[in-house]
Amino acid sequence: MSDVRYPFTAIVGMADLRLGLLLNAVSPAVGGVLVRGEKGTAKSTMVRALAGLLPSIATVDGCRFACDPAAPDPQCPDGAHTADASERPALLVELPVGVTEDRIVGSLDLERALSEGVKAYEPGLLARAHRGVLYIDEVNLLQDHVVDLLLDAAAMGRSYVEREGVSVRHAARFLLVGTMNPEEGELRPQLLDRFGLTVEIAATRDPAERAEVVRRRLAYDADPAGFAARFAEDERRLAERITTARELLPEVELTDAALRQLTAVCAAFEVDGLRADIVMARTAVALAAWAGRTEVLEEDVRKAAQLALPHRRRRNPFDAPGLDEEQLDRTLEEHAEPEQPEPEQPDNGPEGSGPDGGGPDGGGPEDEGPGPDGGPDNGGGGGAPDPADTPGAPDGSAAAEPEQEQPADGEPIPRQGQGGARESAPVAAGEPYRTRLFKVPGTGRGAQGRRSPAETDGGHTIRARRPQGRLARLHLSATLQAAAPYQAARGRSGRALELRPDDFREQVRQGRESNLVLFVVDASGSMAARQRMGAVKGAVLSLLMDAYQRRDKVGLVTFRGSGAELALPPTSSVEVGAARLESLPTGGRTPLAAGLLRAHEVLRVERMRDPHRRPLLVVVTDGRATGGRDALPAADRAAGLLAAQGIASVVLDCESGPVRLGLAHKLAARLGASAVSLAELRAEGVAALVQAHRTTDLHRKAA
Ligand SMILES: [Zn+2]
Repeated sequence: MSDVRYPFTAIVGMADLRLGLLLNAVSPAVGGVLVRGEKGTAKSTMVRALAGLLPSIATVDGCRFACDPAAPDPQCPDGAHTADASERPALLVELPVGVTEDRIVGSLDLERALSEGVKAYEPGLLARAHRGVLYIDEVNLLQDHVVDLLLDAAAMGRSYVEREGVSVRHAARFLLVGTMNPEEGELRPQLLDRFGLTVEIAATRDPAERAEVVRRRLAYDADPAGFAARFAEDERRLAERITTARELLPEVELTDAALRQLTAVCAAFEVDGLRADIVMARTAVALAAWAGRTEVLEEDVRKAAQLALPHRRRRNPFDAPGLDEEQLDRTLEEHAEPEQPEPEQPDNGPEGSGPDGGGPDGGGPEDEGPGPDGGPDNGGGGGAPDPADTPGAPDGSAAAEPEQEQPADGEPIPRQGQGGARESAPVAAGEPYRTRLFKVPGTGRGAQGRRSPAETDGGHTIRARRPQGRLARLHLSATLQAAAPYQAARGRSGRALELRPDDFREQVRQGRESNLVLFVVDASGSMAARQRMGAVKGAVLSLLMDAYQRRDKVGLVTFRGSGAELALPPTSSVEVGAARLESLPTGGRTPLAAGLLRAHEVLRVERMRDPHRRPLLVVVTDGRATGGRDALPAADRAAGLLAAQGIASVVLDCESGPVRLGLAHKLAARLGASAVSLAELRAEGVAALVQAHRTTDLHRKAA
């Protein structure tokens, strides 16, 4: 790797990404860029190259928080600054995957703070990124509370560290760029919404363009300095244009006509709240400044919509991204420069977003409180204590309970009508509904999520223990209790407590983890012939959607004909799961044993790959097994194998009709699981009433 940066102007293609980055460089208020796309598209190269274009900054000497000598941060921990200052380039700070909270916000030495009264604070990455670029590759793989933390800081322009009464705060304004590969799992809609712009990128299919990409890459690798020199003049001009546009920015006028078009577009695309309108307005203004104009034109509004809206109108993880260009054109046309200023039609005017206007989500992230676990997306669910582990669940089986809380990304869907077996009226696939919550019993240590109980960073404190590693979350009362008996012996004088390192206790917190939900689905002819496949697909789709909201990994094993197939290796991409399910071929015999054995193998490999992630097996079957006299006993043995390893499982019993064999129940007993019928899978509709507007939205989508 050379330390000569690949020049921004040498990058071929990716026009939207280029523009998105430049607009943020001109106007950081736009709120950052989320780059979605496959691997190997040089998106990282482009982001890194951007830093080279940013104007250099003046900083106070000796300040670790990059204070501007013209306007030093009054709360700067390195405060009482000297008058000396120097210039340096704006930094690009990259956030590594698996980064800890401490590393991001900086760390306080609690032991020293408490026992010596010394405020020893080591700045984190947010301090380093101040006045520069913060780059998060694969932002979708970060833990939720970490992403919340970053987006809170980005929205407020400040970072807070608050622990047991010791608090540090400092300015942290940076250009936020995240990348993600949607194949590896989505960001939750609430997090998507907090990035100003999104761009979708894919490697170009144009052979000439591809050739040029390769040619330049080879030239750069052969002689980085020479290559960079070739583009030095272009780079200089582009940097200059950024500076000019920045200066022009305050003079750009957003006319009433442009604003009307802009809000009409937001209303037409049914975005929630007013945040989209605000981001779009800032983007349109930045576009005008970038074009060297002082007035926002229709073309700015159109481009702003393309950059700021696609990620804000996705309601359902299975909706396709992107914006309907025809609808955009139509809306712009309808609301173009009216001859006489007339109130908009109530159904698609700016009033369309009225009910939300004054609401809590109207003002964007500025309204949302900080906090590692209290993000706006939690809806009260995230860290809430679960009812105690369901008693009476057989060992190793998943505990099922009707969920009372509002789901995190709650998009409850009302029941489609009740009733038990509905042989005659199967639920069509693609109509997901809210399902019961299945959990893995016991307490796990997996990645934070929303399914099973686990020791996590977030959540609520359940007890204290001696610190394991560096003291992070002090349990104050337990620490005092530990220290109290020795005060006389330690010769305490005065009011202050004599604390020794041995006294410190830390909090053990319990929240919820995400799991691996592995589906084993019977796709045999008997399922297809009985026309149950529609209902079964609907059920699995519902469970997939539930898994998405709980941030689980999912996998899909199907069995039919002569064997079992791993239709979807464990992934965080529920969309891929849904797509596989949609195109699932059916027919043939019912090799149940093969399906279970395949699941056993998949789980064995996953255990090595991701040891802390506990699996939940969902077997979707009527319990039948065909293909020889040994078919049923073989399935029985395979089930025993899974049970012996304590795999938590659930059997989704697909048997229907007047004559029932009850085979699924027998299988469940062998697995140490419970059997749930398709009808029983639906959650009670309590929560469905709460978020009525979202429900109607989904209804509309389904229609
Ligand atoms: Zn400072």
